[in-house]
Amino acid sequence: MNTIKEKLKKAAAIIPDTDLILQEFLALIAGIKPVMIYQLNPNEISLIKTNFPELNIACRDKIICGKRSHACALSYNESLAQKTIDSFCGEGSKWQLLGDLLGYPKCCVESHLRYCGQSKQLDSPLITYQAYKSSKKCNFLVNNLLNFSTRVGDKKSNDFLHYLQLNKNLPIPYRYFQFISHDPCRYDCQESIKIGKEIDSLLKEYAPKVEKIVKYTLSKPILFFDLFKLVIFEGYLKEGVLYYQKIIPPFFLVDNSLMEKIESGNRIIVDNKKIEILKDDSTLFVYQKKSEADGFILDFSESN
Ligand SMILES: [Zn+2]
Repeated sequence: MNTIKEKLKKAAAIIPDTDLILQEFLALIAGIKPVMIYQLNPNEISLIKTNFPELNIACRDKIICGKRSHACALSYNESLAQKTIDSFCGEGSKWQLLGDLLGYPKCCVESHLRYCGQSKQLDSPLITYQAYKSSKKCNFLVNNLLNFSTRVGDKKSNDFLHYLQLNKNLPIPYRYFQFISHDPCRYDCQESIKIGKEIDSLLKEYAPKVEKIVKYTLSKPILFFDLFKLVIFEGYLKEGVLYYQKIIPPFFLVDNSLMEKIESGNRIIVDNKKIEILKDDSTLFVYQKKSEADGFILDFSESN
């Protein structure tokens, strides 16, 4: 019989050869996550069945973004896998049930449902701005802004291809920049921090090189416009001023003209109306915001 530790080691060795998110899979194996949903191809299914025969895989075809996908739920518990895939693929979205099955915090599921009720569940600038506004501080463990697993249903496929093009040389797969896989209700949501912490420790133990890069990247100040338009800085925020040395990958699709100014500056000041980019004390550029949520800084650095 394999111990959990051996299984986790095996997962860390073979999962990077698949499209699965390593830390999510480790959380499943460790029993932190009860069930998870992936789009799996036949090779991945047989690889998992061979190496982790104790996992149950329930699959159904689902049309995602106009493409037929093979959605699968993975769990140690057979009926849970079936129930999850049925509510994921069933008629009408059963978000409450699905969120509960997937082990998401109640507060975050309820917050998501409120947006669904207003048909705003895909309005990432609004959702991110509200979560930011209601947070006392932003915790990097809950930084979901670089995370692609919550973007099923995102129809901006050209943006996505462009994003992949810009990030061909990432040291780890683009899918790995996350500790949590859900939209947090706030960036200091205690329940989400708890999940993030558990997943961080798993990753640290079984894939320390990956953990280092993920943590380094997630714990930075971010200038956010929307999920495809944001900038990650090597720098710090002090009294409302962002001081930075450089921008770091992954790179997103911010307009070239704005990006050039940011790259030649070293300070940014944001208020409700504008974003000012400076080099030392001289202003290089002022971006007039269309709304309060059109560009704001979330400081995920640990010293904030
Ligand atoms: Zn929450």
